[in-house]
Amino acid sequence: MRERAVSGHPDSTGRTPGATLQSVTERDGRTKASGGGRRRPLGRCDDNAAGLADYRAAFQAARMPMAVLNRDGLVLAANPAFGELVGTDPDDLVAATAADLTDLGADPRVWTAYREVLCGRSDRLRCTRRLKHPDGHSVWVEVTVEPQMGEDGVLLSVDDISDRHDLLARLRHLQMHDPVTRLPNRALFFERLSGALETAAFEPAGTGRIGLCYLDLDGFKAVNDTLGHRVGDRLLSAVAQRLLRCAETAGDRGPAHGGHLVARLGGDEFAILVEDSTGTDQLAELAQCVLDALQRPFDLAGQRLSVSASIGVVERTASGTTATGLMQAADTTLFWAKEDGKARWTLFDPERNAHRMTRQALSSTLRPAVDRGEFTLEYQPLVGLGDGRAQGVEALVRWRHPQFGTLSPNRFIALAEENGAIVELGRWVLERACHQARAWQLAHPGGQPLFVSVNVAVRQVWDSDLVADVAGILAETGLPPRLLQLELTESAVMGSAGRPLQALQALSDMGVRIAIDDFGTGYSNLAYLSRLPVSVLKLDGSFVHGFRSQEHPNPADEMIVEALVALAHRLGLTVTAECVESAEQAERLRRIGCDTGQGWLYSRPVAPDRVAALLDAGRRTDC
Ligand code: C2E
Ligand code: MG
Ligand code: MG
Repeated sequence: MRERAVSGHPDSTGRTPGATLQSVTERDGRTKASGGGRRRPLGRCDDNAAGLADYRAAFQAARMPMAVLNRDGLVLAANPAFGELVGTDPDDLVAATAADLTDLGADPRVWTAYREVLCGRSDRLRCTRRLKHPDGHSVWVEVTVEPQMGEDGVLLSVDDISDRHDLLARLRHLQMHDPVTRLPNRALFFERLSGALETAAFEPAGTGRIGLCYLDLDGFKAVNDTLGHRVGDRLLSAVAQRLLRCAETAGDRGPAHGGHLVARLGGDEFAILVEDSTGTDQLAELAQCVLDALQRPFDLAGQRLSVSASIGVVERTASGTTATGLMQAADTTLFWAKEDGKARWTLFDPERNAHRMTRQALSSTLRPAVDRGEFTLEYQPLVGLGDGRAQGVEALVRWRHPQFGTLSPNRFIALAEENGAIVELGRWVLERACHQARAWQLAHPGGQPLFVSVNVAVRQVWDSDLVADVAGILAETGLPPRLLQLELTESAVMGSAGRPLQALQALSDMGVRIAIDDFGTGYSNLAYLSRLPVSVLKLDGSFVHGFRSQEHPNPADEMIVEALVALAHRLGLTVTAECVESAEQAERLRRIGCDTGQGWLYSRPVAPDRVAALLDAGRRTDC
């Protein structure tokens, strides 16, 4: 709240009180009394002169400062108590601008509310102001402005609430400050932040922007744990002092008003609020100043301590920003600063945030999406390179997301693995794919049936009873085990011991084939793989890419694949090449000895009815 000396200013339009009085006098048809200059503000009810006299006497004798104003906010009459409050003869206050006398113009919200009462759109304004008494001391007052009963004027009364205010202020200080660092606490910080956001929307003179440095000390817990809470508290207090100095220095150079608010939000978290910020440069400079300041070691209790801080920096326009929104952004940015290696500041990045939000949104809705049936399967043929006939299909899951459209597995499988939803999703895929394969088999009893190849994530092996699930699903659907293939990545089976190895063995014993997916992207340890119950190797697409150009063949690629295929065959494994896109690639893979191919050359992944059409047409793979 701003402190203002009470004086007779020109009003906000720049008119002098005298000039205003002139026009008001003419408009109201009221006359200024001669001699003592006393006016008759309460006049009009001449028929009730006695009552009026009492009213006036009470007005004059009242200990509460009061003034009657006209609808332009100019004083028509002021009582002696009011004169005493502002240190002027009440008669000399006539035609003065009341808002100047009681500091109603300094706060845009108060000013707007005051104008509403003057023009009759509101019944009352009550606000607290701090005025400077003529003897120099400050007084806290409650100013009430309300229409004068039965009159056209407005009554302004001023109640001295200094004692109450001081007591409340002391209580509030205790409530709103952190006892360790003496900085404003979380409650006060949020109050100031909300106030700053509101003011920025009202204040045309400001930049309309707001900035925040949200910082967390790296390794503070270790100090607390090893040296005790007393040293921890002293360190926090010393950090607070350095932050205050940074905020003051930066504030001095700031455009609008000096000093930014430094608060302790809890634990080892601090925030510096920059009202009326000028842009990200200003915040970046402040954040760097904080990092530099904290880099110097602290000498406490005979110990030399070093800490660093991670800082999330957010700077944006105030309009449309909420306190919660700003804090969330700051929190996310602080997390990035930590994630990026600590001891640094990081600026909020809307794109990185959108990515995070989408990840979060997807992750949290994965599980219910399985129940809501938002997933579907497409199938991509696995084709014999020798005869060009489809032998099986790989089931590939898609998410028909109500908000984001159809999502490819690359967008959500890793998330499902992270949060465990893969177990449920994987079970659904397995069940759906087996049902489908059995349906195709029944619909085409004469021919060689298609097998279905299902991707299995490592977590499914660890966190669910995959063997029991597979056995149950095969029994339920009636699909022969030889028509099911499970694809696991190299990393999932490498180092298999105990449970995963037993599971693979049990599945293999059941007659289910195990394939290693994306072979070549991991350890590529064929000798090791040969000791596991694996029967198929799916060569990663990157090997096949090198085969693309007929004119510039890369002999090294070809030699590696040739050697791999030969070795795999010697170990009893069959080889499928992924990502076969051209006839040349297919031909060279065939020559090298690859058994099957999968890729756009034959077909993109397609809906199940397209696979049925392929079967009906005698397995030509151009669906
Ligand atoms: P993957 O098992 O290696 O599947 C092959 C991927 O290569 C598929 O991508 C397929 O559309 C794509 N592809 C096929 N032919 C070509 C080609 O000629 N050129 C190129 N450039 N790409 C080709 P998709 O469907 O996006 O699947 C990506 C990955 O998501 C799969 O890779 C698999 O690791 C995973 N995935 C898919 N469905 C499931 C599932 O049900 N469970 C689990 N755990 N993972 C799945
Ligand atoms: Mg696969
Ligand atoms: Mg693959």
